[in-house]
Amino acid sequence: MDRHRDLSWIQLRGSPKEIGRTYGKAFKQIFIAHSEALRERLKFYDSVSLEEARLNQLETLQKHFPYLAEEMNGIAEATGLDPRIVQLAHVTIDRVVKESIAPRPKLDGDQKNDCSNIIFTNSDRGPLLGKTLDGSSKNGPDRLMAKISPKNGHGMLVMMYLGKLNAETGVNEKGLAVGNSSIHFNSMNPRGINRQLLIRLLLQECANTEEGIEFLKKYGPINSGYNFMLLDKNGDAANVERSPTDYCIRRPRKGVLFCVNHCVCENMTRDERLAMGMERHLNSKARWANFQNIASREDFEMAFETMKNILRNHASPGGICQHGFAGMYTSTSFILIPLEGKMLFTVGSACQSEFQVLSFD
Ligand SMILES: [Zn+2]
Repeated sequence: MDRHRDLSWIQLRGSPKEIGRTYGKAFKQIFIAHSEALRERLKFYDSVSLEEARLNQLETLQKHFPYLAEEMNGIAEATGLDPRIVQLAHVTIDRVVKESIAPRPKLDGDQKNDCSNIIFTNSDRGPLLGKTLDGSSKNGPDRLMAKISPKNGHGMLVMMYLGKLNAETGVNEKGLAVGNSSIHFNSMNPRGINRQLLIRLLLQECANTEEGIEFLKKYGPINSGYNFMLLDKNGDAANVERSPTDYCIRRPRKGVLFCVNHCVCENMTRDERLAMGMERHLNSKARWANFQNIASREDFEMAFETMKNILRNHASPGGICQHGFAGMYTSTSFILIPLEGKMLFTVGSACQSEFQVLSFD
């Protein structure tokens, strides 16, 4: 289990029930501790509205992706937890569920993440997707690196959130890599799917970028959204700006495609909400300008070393490797290599840590 330094690691395989049971058994105490904390948090919300949100997502999953509901049942079995609390851990709550005590107190779980992503459609190691995971805590969230081999669907290497099925980024055995950057909207879709579960579903359901685009046209998040980054081993790439109600597809220019924490397409900016405040919004704009700058340099070359250097970039303003700008810190950086079936990642910022390798072999 300790194959990778400093981060938890797990291998999951088999039927949905087996996957859930294995995960639940391996991290039983963490699941129990998280659900106790969740129960405390949920006291500030209206119970009728909460139950409605739980059933909405459960029905959507049972109709389209029943294996995720089954994995949650497996977790409940192995941990002895009520299946409803396991389901609630995957429900999007803020702005979706009515608060019973307003304003509710600030809680630890309120931390939000920002990220930068950049794709090279080709390089000395094939297509590359580079990504940071930035947040307001220096240590970052509880990350779980996993290799999942589901009975039905594509096998994947994925970074998950410990104690949940939620995922952040990964690459599957067909050679599709998926990244993301948070974006926020006014609209909501109560019948949608938690956006971090959408990352997992994309990896399990889709073999290439085209399939990923079609998937995201059909399925959207409940609240907020993502700049989804899709890259396959053939170098086909897309950024799908996805809100609860709308989407827009952007394609690479001269082999390069990047996204940060704001929308570019006009149909999306009309609905966009500056949820993280003006300082974070300006930080996102500065990272965008920095990416533009880097990609337009005369000596710019789409190479593996260039990708590493971008993830260690400290331009001011707009550094991709963040050390407290607008209160944000990079806790993990990733390079996904679909052609090699590898996910490289750091524990800590990319400028201070070496990349570790997770592969299908
Ligand atoms: Zn740095």
